[in-house]
Amino acid sequence: MLQEVSLGQKSLADYTHIAGKELTEHIRALAEPLKGQRILHVSATAFGGGVSEILYTIVPLMRDAGLDAHWHVIFGKEEFFNATKLLHNSLQGAEETLSEEQWELFDEINAINADGLQGEWDTIVVHDPQPIGLRRGASEKSRNWIWRCHIDLSEPNPAPIARLQPLIEEYDATVWHMPVYVPNGMNGNGGIRIIPPAIDPLSPKNMAFSPDDAAFVCHQFGIDVDRPLITQVSRFDPWKDPIGVIDAYRLVHEQMPDVQLALVGSMATDDPEGWEFFQHTVEYADADPDIKILNNLNNVGAIEVNAFQSQSDVCLQKSIREGFGLTVTEALWKGRPTVAGNVGGIPLQIEDGKSGFLVDSPDACAQRCIEILADPELGKRLGRAGKEYARREFLSPRLLRDWLQLFGELDT
Ligand code: UDP
Repeated sequence: MLQEVSLGQKSLADYTHIAGKELTEHIRALAEPLKGQRILHVSATAFGGGVSEILYTIVPLMRDAGLDAHWHVIFGKEEFFNATKLLHNSLQGAEETLSEEQWELFDEINAINADGLQGEWDTIVVHDPQPIGLRRGASEKSRNWIWRCHIDLSEPNPAPIARLQPLIEEYDATVWHMPVYVPNGMNGNGGIRIIPPAIDPLSPKNMAFSPDDAAFVCHQFGIDVDRPLITQVSRFDPWKDPIGVIDAYRLVHEQMPDVQLALVGSMATDDPEGWEFFQHTVEYADADPDIKILNNLNNVGAIEVNAFQSQSDVCLQKSIREGFGLTVTEALWKGRPTVAGNVGGIPLQIEDGKSGFLVDSPDACAQRCIEILADPELGKRLGRAGKEYARREFLSPRLLRDWLQLFGELDT
């Protein structure tokens, strides 16, 4: 049986002062004919990463709008998550992919979960590749099936995408962050929709924090709050390039020896590779006392992430591949000057030179950090523009609107 994730309450009314009256009214109008609909979200994990981050907000907001929305997490075991991590990497282009035995396990776990899926639903939204086989195994349990892809499938390893494509095309609709992420050959099959993700401006991670409170929290983790701080918040994953971040920091350090670096990374339960890469990152930092490497096992939760982002003079997201960096929007929403990899969804989030900087190498990253640290006015200007852009495009009420619109369209 799949596990239900228990959720707190959220009220759309609380967001009106940020999202505006017009959007709030639009949401209420879209929700009206959908009242009472049974909506189920299914994902691989309730801890760590962007998918769970989004669902903790969007499911309660759907409930507040009158839908009977739920979130279930699939059953899995270590070998399955090893295989799905490999799948994730190969779908992002890595050469190594699943062995035939791993595909069998993938199918087997999906079939077990399809059997265990309980209830009858109006719409089931399946998130990411791990549970993609649910529809095939449990098609009678929902009127509509949507597959929500959170990763970039534009340049996948051909073998795994060939295997997944028939499964994807069975869905009534598929939802992508950007048009270019849709794999070649989908050509309109699977009702393609484009909906970029969003962050919750009122969650503990993103709510307004006073500078004193942010400094107080960072100080407890050994940060000297009177010296400049650069932070990257992300899972320990090669695609997030913490090694490149350390290289960039070292270049900045040569010119600005006062600078400190914080690498804040949560460990997701479906990411066995994370621990290995965490160790590798710690070794690469070579006991530099001005590099703080923290994870959720050091008690770094949402509040602490908020504090680090709010306190930072520069926030980084130096990814090499990135579907859409929630952390980028989180930093922008806090008005922080942000430097991020010029890849995937990030150029959608940052207009280079206006609301942050896009970079292609540790050198360029270091250069931009130095510019910002040397010119606080530049930092303020970028931060202000970034915050306004995030407010317009990437907050939860807009995402709720897009989901309701899609549910409504599938019903007509
Ligand atoms: N995150 C966190 N603690 C950490 C590291 C990451 O809470 O130590 C959160 C981060 O704030 C963001 C999400 O995990 O909300 C990561 O989403 P993103 O889209 O940036 O990357 P993903 O992990 O989904 O690839």
